[in-house]
Amino acid sequence: MYKCIDCGNTEKFIGFAEEKGNAYIYQDCINKSNTNCSWIYIISDSNSNWKSNINIYRCFYCNSTRIIEFNKK
Ligand SMILES: [Zn+2]
Repeated sequence: MYKCIDCGNTEKFIGFAEEKGNAYIYQDCINKSNTNCSWIYIISDSNSNWKSNINIYRCFYCNSTRIIEFNKK
């Protein structure tokens, strides 16, 4: 978990997030003419091949880059 040293924020940060791995992929279209489609990903519980990566750049509230990480597993 992350915490801003300057304002104590532990809720919201600006950074980079990436998730990738094997998934079931559905195409969801609102109408039959396929003009409004989006992707839906379903990740199975047994998926051990799913990787997530988070990189915190700065605090959302005070813009500080002095962020500490705690309770690291
Ligand atoms: Zn802050």
